[in-house]
Amino acid sequence: MVRSEQEFLLATKGLQPGDSVILANGQWRDFEMVFSGRGRPGQPITLRAETPGKVLIGGKSNLRLAGEYLLVTGLVFRDGHTPTNEVISFRRGRDQLANHSRVTNIVIDHYNNPERYERDFWVMMYGKNNRFDHNHLEGKSNAGVTMAVRLDSQGSRNNRHRIDHNYFGPRPILGANGGETLRIGTSKYSLTESETLVENNYFDRCNGELEIISNKSGKNVFRGNVFLESRGTLTLRHGNDNLVEANVFLGNGVEHTGGIRVINKRQVIRNNYLSGLTGHRFGGALVIMNGVPDSPINRYHQVEDSLIENNSLIDNEHIEFAAGSDEERSAVPIRSTFRNNLIVNSSRPNLITVHDEIKGVSFANNVVAGDVTLPDALGFERRQVALEKNENGLFHPLDESLAKIGAPRSLKLLERAQTGVSWYPKPGSASSFDSGATWLVDPGRDTLTGAFEKAAYGDIIELRPGDYTVTRILSLDRPLTVRAAANAQPRPRIQFERSALFELAEGGSLKLAGIAIDGSLAPDASGNSVVRTSRYSMLSNYELEVANAEVLNLDTNHSFNFLRVSSHTFAQKVSIRGSLFRNISGHVIALDREIDDLGIYNGEYITLTGSTFENIGGAVISIYRGGTDESTFGPHVRLQDSILKTVGKNRRNRNSSAVFLHGVQQAEIRANLFSDSQPLRIVETVGEPITVIRENQWVATPPPSVTTGGVR
Ligand code: CA
Repeated sequence: MVRSEQEFLLATKGLQPGDSVILANGQWRDFEMVFSGRGRPGQPITLRAETPGKVLIGGKSNLRLAGEYLLVTGLVFRDGHTPTNEVISFRRGRDQLANHSRVTNIVIDHYNNPERYERDFWVMMYGKNNRFDHNHLEGKSNAGVTMAVRLDSQGSRNNRHRIDHNYFGPRPILGANGGETLRIGTSKYSLTESETLVENNYFDRCNGELEIISNKSGKNVFRGNVFLESRGTLTLRHGNDNLVEANVFLGNGVEHTGGIRVINKRQVIRNNYLSGLTGHRFGGALVIMNGVPDSPINRYHQVEDSLIENNSLIDNEHIEFAAGSDEERSAVPIRSTFRNNLIVNSSRPNLITVHDEIKGVSFANNVVAGDVTLPDALGFERRQVALEKNENGLFHPLDESLAKIGAPRSLKLLERAQTGVSWYPKPGSASSFDSGATWLVDPGRDTLTGAFEKAAYGDIIELRPGDYTVTRILSLDRPLTVRAAANAQPRPRIQFERSALFELAEGGSLKLAGIAIDGSLAPDASGNSVVRTSRYSMLSNYELEVANAEVLNLDTNHSFNFLRVSSHTFAQKVSIRGSLFRNISGHVIALDREIDDLGIYNGEYITLTGSTFENIGGAVISIYRGGTDESTFGPHVRLQDSILKTVGKNRRNRNSSAVFLHGVQQAEIRANLFSDSQPLRIVETVGEPITVIRENQWVATPPPSVTTGGVR
C-alpha cells in the first residue's frame, strides 16, 4: 500500500511476479507513474486502486507501462491533463514496451489539455498481446485521437491486442481534423499487419470528426461494437484484410451519423446492422470509395477483392458507390462482391448513389423494399418486406424465406451497461438551458449583476420591465437564460459600461429572450461586443441563442460586434430568431478567427431566421474556414425569412459583404430581402459543399457571388 509518490517509487523497485502495488484512496496530483516489471502468466504484477473509483489522479499526471504481464485497474484520471503525449502508454520509452499486459476498469474523464489544439492522446498501445478492456473514456475535447494502436516498431506489429467492452463516451465536435476516437496504425506503417481485435465496445455520441474509427493497418477485426448517434464512420482508411462484422450502428436520425467506409484490398463487411443513419458523401451508411491509381501510401488505395454481405440497412439516407470519384481518385472498385444485403426504407428515402463505373462490383441476391433509389445494376430484387422487432430491439424480416438476407436474427445488441465500469456513472442526455431555478430581478444598477452571481447551472434570470445598467463584464461558466418576465412590457432594456456585456468562459452558454440590449453606454473605444468568448482557448463548445430580442446602438465607436470570438473557441450553435438588430458598427456574428488555413473553424450550426438587420456596418454573418482538410462536417449556415437593410457598407468591412461565408459546407440562404446592402459572398472550398440560394430579393444590392476559392 502506498500513500505518496515517494512510497510508490520505493515499492515499484524490484517487483516480483504476483506482487501488488496498491494506491491509497484519495487525490493524487502531478503524479507521473512508471510501472515496470516482469510478471508471469497467471502471476501478473498488479497496480490497483485501494477501492476502484476512489483513487483520483489529477493535475499533470500519466502512466507508463513497461515489461511483461502487468495489470492496472481501478484508477480515475480527471481534473488535469498529461504533461507528455499520452495519459496511458504501453511503453516507457522507444525500446521498453509492455507485452501481455492489461489495463482494465480505468476511467479517463475530460482529462484535457486546456489548449484546444494542443494534441495529445489518452491511450497509446504498443507492444504485443495487450488488453484494454472495461474502461470508461469520456469527454476528450482537445485535439488528438482518444486511443491509438501504434505499429512503429517490429515489437508492436502482429500484436494481437484486444480492445473490448470499453465505453467510449461522448466526444464533442472538435472543428478540425484529429478528433478520431480510435485509430489503429498510421499511414506510414499501414501495409503492416496489426491483428488487433476491437470487440463489444460502445461508442456513444463520438462526434469529434468524420472518422469515429480510423483503421490504418491490416488484419484487424471489428466485431459486436455499437455506435450510438455518433457522427462519422468506421473508416477502413488504410491497410488490407480487415473484418468488420456484427456491429450495430444506430443513428436515430441524428445529422451526419454514418456507418462503414470501405477502402483498400480484401476487406470483409458482413452481418452488420445499420439503421437511422443520415450521413452523406464520405459519411454515409455504407460508402465504397474510389482509389488513386498507383496511390502513394497516404492517399486512397483502390477497393479490390472485397466482400460486403448480409448487412441490414434499415432507414438510412445514403449508400455510396465509387465515392470520391474525381480526376485523382479514378480507380474504381474491382473484383468485389455485394450480396445478400437487405435494404429497407420505410420512414426516409434512401439514395444509392453511384459516382463512377461499378462493373467491378458483382451484385447478387440483395433485397430492397420501400423508397430506395437503385443503381443501374442487376442483383437487386424489389419486394415487400414486413419487419418485426426481435428481443434485442433490432428489426428482421418476418418472412422465413428471407432468413439468409441481411444480418442474422441471432445478432446481439450490446448493452451500454455491459461496457465500461459499474462504479462510474455514464452520461445522460445533455440538458442545459432552463433546467434550473428562476430568479426574478428588478430594474436598476447592477441588479442583473447580483442575480448573475447567484444563478447556478441552467437557471433562468427574468427581468421585470425597466432599465438595467451593468457596470462589469458578466462571465458565464455555465448555461444561463436571461429573459423578460412574463408580460413584461415594454421590453426590459440592458445597457452596459464595459467593453462587453457577456463573456463566455469554459462551460458557458447563453440564451437571451424578450429583452432589449442597447450599446449606448459602452466605452468610446473600438472593438466592443455584446457577447464575447474567453480570450483564450476553450475546450467546451458553447451555445448562444437569441429570440425575440432587440439589439440597438452598438455604435459608440467602430468595429462594435454583437458576437466576437477568439481563436480556438467553438460554437456548437448560434441561433437568432425573430429579433431586430439596428445601428451596429461592426459584425453581428463573426466566426472568422481561424486564419491558419488548417481546416479549423469557429462554429458548427449558425441559424438566423425571421429577423431584421438594419444599418449594420459589417456583415450579418462572417465565417472563415480555410484549408483543404476533409475531415469535418461544418460549418452549417442558414439565413431565412430575414430582412437585411443597409448592411456591410462600413469601409472597415474588409470583405465588402452583407454575408460572407468562406469554406462553409452547408449554406441555405432563403426568402430574405437584401436592400441597399453589400452582396452575399460565398467562397466554396473543399469537399462537396451544398449551397442553396433561393427566393431572395435583391433591391439596390449587387447580385450574390459564389466562387470556388479552394484548392485540393
Ligand atoms: Ca481524421
